[in-house]
Amino acid sequence: MSGMKLIDSHAHYDDKRFDDEFEGGVDAALRLSFDAGVDAVINVATNPENIKTTLALAERYENVYSAVGIHPEDCANIDADPEDVLAEVEKLLSHPKVVAIGEIGLDYHWEPYDKARQADWFERQLAIALKHDVPVIVHCRDAIGDAVAIVKKYRGVRGVFHSYSGSAETVKELLPLGWYFSFGGPVTYKNAHKVKEAAAAVPQDRLLIETDCPYLPPVPHRGEINYSAYMFHSLKGLSEATGIDEETLAAATVENTKRLFKI
Ligand SMILES: [Zn+2]
Repeated sequence: MSGMKLIDSHAHYDDKRFDDEFEGGVDAALRLSFDAGVDAVINVATNPENIKTTLALAERYENVYSAVGIHPEDCANIDADPEDVLAEVEKLLSHPKVVAIGEIGLDYHWEPYDKARQADWFERQLAIALKHDVPVIVHCRDAIGDAVAIVKKYRGVRGVFHSYSGSAETVKELLPLGWYFSFGGPVTYKNAHKVKEAAAAVPQDRLLIETDCPYLPPVPHRGEINYSAYMFHSLKGLSEATGIDEETLAAATVENTKRLFKI
Protein backbone atom coordinates (compact mmCIF):
# COMPACT_ATOMS: atom_id res chain seq x y z
CA MET A 1 0.00 0.00 0.00
CA SER A 2 1.99 2.99 -1.42
CA GLY A 3 5.00 2.55 0.83
CA MET A 4 3.39 3.99 3.93
CA LYS A 5 4.54 2.66 7.29
CA LEU A 6 2.58 2.27 10.51
CA ILE A 7 3.19 1.01 14.04
CA ASP A 8 0.40 -0.92 15.75
CA SER A 9 0.42 0.58 19.25
CA HIS A 10 -2.01 -1.95 20.76
CA ALA A 11 -2.43 -5.61 19.81
CA HIS A 12 -3.15 -8.99 21.40
CA TYR A 13 -1.40 -11.48 19.11
CA ASP A 14 -1.20 -14.03 21.89
CA ASP A 15 -5.00 -14.26 21.86
CA LYS A 16 -6.10 -17.85 21.16
CA ARG A 17 -8.22 -16.71 18.22
CA PHE A 18 -5.10 -16.24 16.07
CA ASP A 19 -4.13 -19.88 16.36
CA ASP A 20 -7.71 -21.17 16.18
CA GLU A 21 -9.22 -19.03 13.44
CA PHE A 22 -6.50 -17.17 11.46
CA GLU A 23 -5.11 -19.17 8.53
CA GLY A 24 -1.45 -19.86 9.36
CA GLY A 25 -1.88 -18.63 12.92
CA VAL A 26 -0.14 -15.72 14.59
CA ASP A 27 3.02 -16.08 12.49
CA ALA A 28 1.04 -15.59 9.27
CA ALA A 29 -0.87 -12.64 10.73
CA LEU A 30 2.38 -10.92 11.70
CA ARG A 31 4.20 -11.74 8.46
CA LEU A 32 1.31 -10.39 6.34
CA SER A 33 1.25 -7.26 8.49
CA PHE A 34 4.98 -6.64 8.18
CA ASP A 35 4.70 -7.17 4.41
CA ALA A 36 1.87 -4.61 4.26
CA GLY A 37 4.06 -1.92 5.87
CA VAL A 38 3.58 -2.40 9.59
CA ASP A 39 7.00 -1.66 11.05
CA ALA A 40 6.39 -2.68 14.65
CA VAL A 41 3.73 -3.95 17.04
CA ILE A 42 3.22 -3.35 20.74
CA ASN A 43 1.58 -6.47 22.17
CA VAL A 44 -0.34 -5.76 25.34
CA ALA A 45 -0.92 -8.05 28.31
CA THR A 46 -3.97 -8.03 30.59
CA ASN A 47 -3.26 -10.61 33.32
CA PRO A 48 -0.44 -12.70 34.87
CA GLU A 49 -0.91 -15.57 32.38
CA ASN A 50 -0.74 -13.53 29.19
CA ILE A 51 2.14 -11.45 30.54
CA LYS A 52 4.15 -14.64 29.92
CA THR A 53 2.80 -15.19 26.40
CA THR A 54 3.24 -11.58 25.35
CA LEU A 55 6.86 -11.66 26.52
CA ALA A 56 7.46 -14.90 24.63
CA LEU A 57 6.11 -13.28 21.47
CA ALA A 58 8.29 -10.18 21.93
CA GLU A 59 11.33 -12.41 22.40
CA ARG A 60 10.49 -14.30 19.20
CA TYR A 61 10.03 -11.22 16.95
CA GLU A 62 12.53 -8.40 16.77
CA ASN A 63 9.88 -5.74 16.03
CA VAL A 64 7.25 -6.91 18.52
CA TYR A 65 7.38 -5.07 21.83
CA SER A 66 5.48 -5.77 24.98
CA ALA A 67 3.40 -3.96 27.60
CA VAL A 68 2.85 -5.69 30.93
CA GLY A 69 0.03 -4.95 33.35
CA ILE A 70 -3.30 -5.95 34.84
CA HIS A 71 -6.52 -4.99 33.03
CA PRO A 72 -9.47 -3.71 35.10
CA GLU A 73 -11.67 -6.67 34.13
CA ASP A 74 -8.92 -9.21 34.83
CA CYS A 75 -8.19 -7.86 38.31
CA ALA A 76 -11.55 -9.30 39.42
CA ASN A 77 -10.21 -12.86 38.87
CA ILE A 78 -6.94 -12.50 40.76
CA ASP A 79 -6.92 -13.95 44.27
CA ALA A 80 -3.27 -13.13 44.99
CA ASP A 81 -2.28 -9.96 46.83
CA PRO A 82 -1.97 -7.07 44.32
CA GLU A 83 1.32 -6.15 45.96
CA ASP A 84 2.85 -9.53 45.08
CA VAL A 85 1.44 -9.59 41.54
CA LEU A 86 2.63 -6.05 40.83
CA ALA A 87 6.08 -6.70 42.31
CA GLU A 88 6.47 -9.19 39.45
CA VAL A 89 5.25 -6.60 36.92
CA GLU A 90 7.71 -4.08 38.35
CA LYS A 91 10.59 -6.54 37.92
CA LEU A 92 9.70 -7.03 34.25
CA LEU A 93 10.17 -3.33 33.50
CA SER A 94 13.88 -4.01 33.09
CA HIS A 95 13.18 -6.58 30.33
CA PRO A 96 14.62 -5.14 27.08
CA LYS A 97 11.37 -5.63 25.13
CA VAL A 98 8.98 -4.20 27.75
CA VAL A 99 8.08 -0.63 26.77
CA ALA A 100 5.04 0.18 28.93
CA ILE A 101 2.75 -0.79 31.80
CA GLY A 102 -0.58 -1.86 30.32
CA GLU A 103 -3.22 -2.31 29.86
CA ILE A 104 -4.54 -0.73 33.03
CA GLY A 105 -7.57 1.38 33.83
CA LEU A 106 -11.29 1.20 34.53
CA ASP A 107 -14.13 -0.69 32.85
CA TYR A 108 -17.72 -0.27 34.02
CA HIS A 109 -19.25 -1.94 30.97
CA TRP A 110 -20.13 -5.44 32.15
CA GLU A 111 -21.89 -6.00 35.47
CA PRO A 112 -20.80 -6.89 38.04
CA TYR A 113 -17.73 -4.72 38.48
CA ASP A 114 -16.00 -3.52 41.62
CA LYS A 115 -15.13 0.15 41.22
CA ALA A 116 -12.98 0.30 44.35
CA ARG A 117 -10.98 -2.78 43.38
CA GLN A 118 -10.41 -1.50 39.83
CA ALA A 119 -9.31 1.90 41.15
CA ASP A 120 -6.89 0.24 43.57
CA TRP A 121 -5.18 -1.81 40.82
CA PHE A 122 -5.16 1.19 38.49
CA GLU A 123 -3.59 3.51 41.07
CA ARG A 124 -0.97 1.01 42.16
CA GLN A 125 0.16 0.60 38.54
CA LEU A 126 0.19 4.36 37.91
CA ALA A 127 2.40 4.76 40.97
CA ILE A 128 4.84 2.16 39.62
CA ALA A 129 4.89 3.93 36.24
CA LEU A 130 5.68 7.23 37.90
CA LYS A 131 8.40 5.69 40.03
CA HIS A 132 10.17 4.17 37.00
CA ASP A 133 9.22 6.85 34.44
CA VAL A 134 7.63 4.21 32.21
CA PRO A 135 4.62 5.08 30.00
CA VAL A 136 1.20 3.52 30.59
CA ILE A 137 -1.48 2.21 28.25
CA VAL A 138 -4.90 3.06 29.66
CA HIS A 139 -8.03 1.08 28.92
CA CYS A 140 -11.18 2.99 29.83
CA ARG A 141 -14.75 2.01 29.04
CA ASP A 142 -17.83 3.77 30.41
CA ALA A 143 -15.66 5.23 33.17
CA ILE A 144 -13.99 8.31 31.71
CA GLY A 145 -14.90 10.68 34.56
CA ASP A 146 -13.37 8.45 37.23
CA ALA A 147 -10.35 7.65 35.03
CA VAL A 148 -9.55 11.32 34.47
CA ALA A 149 -9.89 12.03 38.21
CA ILE A 150 -7.45 9.20 38.97
CA VAL A 151 -4.80 10.08 36.37
CA LYS A 152 -4.88 13.68 37.62
CA LYS A 153 -3.66 12.37 40.98
CA TYR A 154 -0.52 11.00 39.25
CA ARG A 155 0.76 14.10 37.50
CA GLY A 156 3.81 13.38 35.43
CA VAL A 157 2.65 9.93 34.32
CA ARG A 158 3.03 9.66 30.55
CA GLY A 159 0.79 7.51 28.45
CA VAL A 160 -2.00 6.87 26.02
CA PHE A 161 -5.74 6.38 26.31
CA HIS A 162 -6.10 3.47 23.91
CA SER A 163 -9.14 3.04 21.62
CA TYR A 164 -10.25 6.36 23.03
CA SER A 165 -14.01 6.58 23.48
CA GLY A 166 -14.35 9.71 25.63
CA SER A 167 -15.48 13.14 24.44
CA ALA A 168 -13.60 15.92 22.65
CA GLU A 169 -13.98 18.01 25.83
CA THR A 170 -12.12 15.36 27.83
CA VAL A 171 -9.36 15.31 25.20
CA LYS A 172 -8.87 19.04 25.87
CA GLU A 173 -8.74 18.35 29.60
CA LEU A 174 -6.05 15.66 29.21
CA LEU A 175 -3.84 17.37 26.60
CA PRO A 176 -2.15 19.79 29.03
CA LEU A 177 -1.21 16.76 31.17
CA GLY A 178 0.72 15.28 28.23
CA TRP A 179 -1.59 12.41 27.30
CA TYR A 180 -1.71 10.72 23.91
CA PHE A 181 -4.83 9.23 22.27
CA SER A 182 -5.01 6.12 20.16
CA PHE A 183 -7.65 5.23 17.59
CA GLY A 184 -8.43 2.03 15.69
CA GLY A 185 -11.32 0.28 13.95
CA PRO A 186 -14.12 2.31 15.57
CA VAL A 187 -12.99 5.49 13.78
CA THR A 188 -14.20 3.84 10.54
CA TYR A 189 -17.68 3.02 11.88
CA LYS A 190 -20.39 5.04 10.21
CA ASN A 191 -22.22 6.10 13.37
CA ALA A 192 -19.13 6.68 15.54
CA HIS A 193 -19.61 10.46 15.57
CA LYS A 194 -18.27 10.91 19.09
CA VAL A 195 -15.04 9.02 18.30
CA LYS A 196 -14.49 11.07 15.13
CA GLU A 197 -15.11 14.35 16.98
CA ALA A 198 -12.68 13.30 19.69
CA ALA A 199 -10.01 12.36 17.11
CA ALA A 200 -10.43 15.77 15.46
CA ALA A 201 -9.66 17.42 18.83
CA VAL A 202 -6.28 15.68 19.17
CA PRO A 203 -3.25 17.54 17.78
CA GLN A 204 -1.13 15.72 15.22
CA ASP A 205 1.73 15.17 17.69
CA ARG A 206 -0.51 13.28 20.17
CA LEU A 207 -2.20 10.76 17.84
CA LEU A 208 -1.46 7.04 17.82
CA ILE A 209 -3.01 4.26 15.77
CA GLU A 210 -3.79 0.68 16.82
CA THR A 211 -5.77 -2.44 16.05
CA ASP A 212 -6.67 -3.87 19.49
CA CYS A 213 -6.63 -7.07 17.40
CA PRO A 214 -8.16 -9.62 17.21
CA TYR A 215 -10.95 -7.27 18.33
CA LEU A 216 -12.47 -4.15 16.71
CA PRO A 217 -11.86 -4.78 12.98
CA PRO A 218 -12.30 -1.67 10.81
CA VAL A 219 -14.79 -1.29 7.95
CA PRO A 220 -14.86 -3.17 5.52
CA HIS A 221 -13.68 -6.14 7.62
CA ARG A 222 -16.21 -6.12 10.45
CA GLY A 223 -16.96 -9.62 11.67
CA GLU A 224 -13.46 -10.87 10.74
CA ILE A 225 -10.45 -11.33 12.96
CA ASN A 226 -8.67 -8.00 13.06
CA TYR A 227 -4.89 -7.83 12.46
CA SER A 228 -2.33 -5.11 11.86
CA ALA A 229 -2.51 -5.06 8.04
CA TYR A 230 -6.12 -3.84 8.38
CA MET A 231 -4.84 -0.74 10.19
CA PHE A 232 -4.52 1.07 6.85
CA HIS A 233 -8.34 1.23 6.76
CA SER A 234 -8.29 2.86 10.19
CA LEU A 235 -5.64 5.27 8.91
CA LYS A 236 -8.07 6.33 6.18
CA GLY A 237 -10.87 6.79 8.74
CA LEU A 238 -8.58 8.76 11.04
CA SER A 239 -7.48 10.90 8.10
CA GLU A 240 -11.10 11.72 7.27
CA ALA A 241 -11.92 12.51 10.91
CA THR A 242 -8.89 14.76 11.45
CA GLY A 243 -8.45 16.32 8.02
CA ILE A 244 -4.77 15.30 8.04
CA ASP A 245 -3.68 13.51 4.85
CA GLU A 246 -2.87 9.81 5.20
CA GLU A 247 0.88 10.05 4.52
CA THR A 248 1.39 12.86 7.03
CA LEU A 249 -0.75 11.05 9.57
CA ALA A 250 1.07 7.73 9.12
CA ALA A 251 4.46 9.40 9.62
CA ALA A 252 3.18 11.36 12.64
CA THR A 253 1.74 8.30 14.39
CA VAL A 254 4.98 6.37 13.87
CA GLU A 255 7.02 9.26 15.28
CA ASN A 256 4.61 9.73 18.24
CA THR A 257 4.65 6.02 19.09
CA LYS A 258 8.45 5.91 19.03
CA ARG A 259 8.66 9.04 21.20
CA LEU A 260 6.14 7.84 23.80
CA PHE A 261 7.48 4.29 24.15
CA LYS A 262 11.15 5.11 23.45
CA ILE A 263 11.46 2.48 20.71
ZN1 LIG B 1 -6.53 -4.23 24.43
